[in-house]
Amino acid sequence: MTTAKKFLTETSSDDLAAWLRDKGEPAFRAKQIREWIFQKLVFSPDGMKNLPAKLRQALAEDFFFPSCSVAERAASGRDGVVKLRLALHDGESVELVVIPAQDRVTLCLSTQVGCPVGCRFCASGANGLVRNLHAGEMLEEFLAGCAEAGRKCDNIVFMGIGEGLLNFDELAKVLDTLTSPEGFSMSPRRITVSTSGYVPGIGKLAQLGKEFTLAVSLHAPDDATREKIIPDKLRYPIDEILEAADAYRDRSGRLYTLEYTLLAGINDSPEQAEALGRLALRHRAKINLIPYNETGSAFRRPRRDVIEEFEKAVAATGAAVTRRVERGAKSTAACGQLRARAERKKEF
Ligand code: SAH
Ligand code: SF4
Repeated sequence: MTTAKKFLTETSSDDLAAWLRDKGEPAFRAKQIREWIFQKLVFSPDGMKNLPAKLRQALAEDFFFPSCSVAERAASGRDGVVKLRLALHDGESVELVVIPAQDRVTLCLSTQVGCPVGCRFCASGANGLVRNLHAGEMLEEFLAGCAEAGRKCDNIVFMGIGEGLLNFDELAKVLDTLTSPEGFSMSPRRITVSTSGYVPGIGKLAQLGKEFTLAVSLHAPDDATREKIIPDKLRYPIDEILEAADAYRDRSGRLYTLEYTLLAGINDSPEQAEALGRLALRHRAKINLIPYNETGSAFRRPRRDVIEEFEKAVAATGAAVTRRVERGAKSTAACGQLRARAERKKEF
């Protein structure tokens, strides 16, 4: 579907002012519209109560706002975690997760429809990349998450569907809007960009010169093990990834995290734990262990005692290690699963 419509959430003040001039509307409307979006987190022209109906209608005609709607909502019950599947304007969909904890709410956002990296354990990459998300769509994910939480969310992790650094220009616009005073005024430190180790993208992120938190999905302490998990096409050597991540750390002043999805019989031995710990110490990185959420791939989650032993063996090296708190309804816990299920339904 080709369309000239733009996403209101990613339209600059200047462009909005020019559009209003065209429509014969006064300039102060730009400020009002931006206040609705960036301060009051209002998601559609219908909610912008101080705008005349005619202007709201014109906005809805000329812009995608909203461009998406909540198509499915999966609540996990006890811990308040909610996963939303957003239907996009072209019939595709992505997922976001709203994660409340104590007095904070974290959002886990998607950056692409599908993923070209195709890690063999991951539901998001199983059928490759469908398309990149526009900046405006990612900003609407943020707004949808805030609407679900009933408040402005505190932290964002780009750990949903997709490899954000392969959609760098759009992601950079989003990061700018999230952190700028004319946008959502968030601290860059509260925003984590997770990457499977796309080296050129880590370099570009460093060039932004901001204190975003970087997470590198390493999954293996050596390249031979990593080869079993991530296909060749977009896999970089560990040395190069960590060199780029070190440069990011030195530029941003922020230590980075190594994400490590634990897969039974693949990367969960005590030797691998020790090697991982040593690697992390050398690079002053923190480790976050993620027990695998099974998604119908050939991989399995290690037994609980194996996971515990692995964590102990890493900690014994002196490296800082945490384990991802298990959250989310079981059947939909891993990223990409709601979308994968919806895509399967489409086939019938
Ligand atoms: N593409 C980026 C960000 C999205 S994936 C990346 O790979 O880092 C975010 C994290 O979720 C990654 O660390 C990934 O390994 C992990 N992940 C994906 N599917 C998973 C699953 N089924 N179980 C456990 N972790 C998973
Ligand atoms: Fe893509 Fe990340 Fe899933 Fe790998 S783990 S396929 S990079 S979304």
